[in-house]
Amino acid sequence: MGLKSYSRGKAIHLMLVYTGGCNGCDIEIVNCVLSPKFDAEQYNVFLTWNPREADVLVVTGPVTKLNKKPLEKIYEAIPNPKAVVAAGSCALMGGVYKNIHGDIPSEEICGPVENVIPVDAKVPGCAVRPQDILAGVVSALPKLLNAD
Ligand code: SF4
Repeated sequence: MGLKSYSRGKAIHLMLVYTGGCNGCDIEIVNCVLSPKFDAEQYNVFLTWNPREADVLVVTGPVTKLNKKPLEKIYEAIPNPKAVVAAGSCALMGGVYKNIHGDIPSEEICGPVENVIPVDAKVPGCAVRPQDILAGVVSALPKLLNAD
């Protein structure tokens, strides 16, 4: 087992990126990690705001055109191997942000997330449930833990 796999076996760092949306999913993700009810930190799952420290990028929102470049930059800044979890119906299919014809991409939206960066796990919901977020992160772990 390599050093990266060993360290990831001890702790996983999530970076949360908002790309539009209503913040409902973001609140649930922070709830999942920090609140006493779900307390993912007890399983050594932590939040970070530093892409160089992140293992898993969790993306919410439909990816507005304004947020496309910042999302790509953050994705590039995370060291390989990395995993991406798209969280919420906005991130998966545009959710309530489709245009009036029900289309996505629309005039303001270039998502869903998988149109912009590769996605390893999809977590449905509006808003996402904390236990589903954890399940989505766990489903992406083999990619990280077996990488070296
Ligand atoms: S999926 Fe629902 S809760 Fe999440 S950002 Fe979109 S509208 Fe808000």
